[in-house]
Amino acid sequence: MEHACIFCKIVRKEIPARVLYEDDDVLAFHDIHPVRPVHFLIIPKAHIATLYDANMTHQRALGTMLARAGELARLAGAESGFRTIINCGKVGQQEVYHLHMHVIGGPDPLGPMIVRPQ
Ligand code: AMP
Ligand code: ZN
Repeated sequence: MEHACIFCKIVRKEIPARVLYEDDDVLAFHDIHPVRPVHFLIIPKAHIATLYDANMTHQRALGTMLARAGELARLAGAESGFRTIINCGKVGQQEVYHLHMHVIGGPDPLGPMIVRPQ
């Protein structure tokens, strides 16, 4: 699975990405189909399929993903706030099964996170 995984291929530089940040544990790159002017992903370099599969052995990478989010959001141009999203599994409508955190920013407000059913 790891060899076929598109985000593992980005980690291994087998396919291109617009990289914002990289260290031993994580990689941040712009989303290929941005939904707002700022939209990038922060991923652990290790293949973790979903947030269900994360555990305490991954805590340094997971901590780095959150700890770097604000500075990278500013670097990408989100000066007045942003939203982080981790979609998980079928209900979360996850499309790429390598754990990733979306960082999505304005400049305009993003609207309600989830539309309430009528
Ligand atoms: P999710 O629905 O949370 O699994 O979101 C997957 C995200 O990955 C989507 O926003 C896609 O646009 C993005 N994506 C898929 N392939 C690539 C790629 N090669 N480079 C950058 N972003 C990608
Ligand atoms: Zn992967």
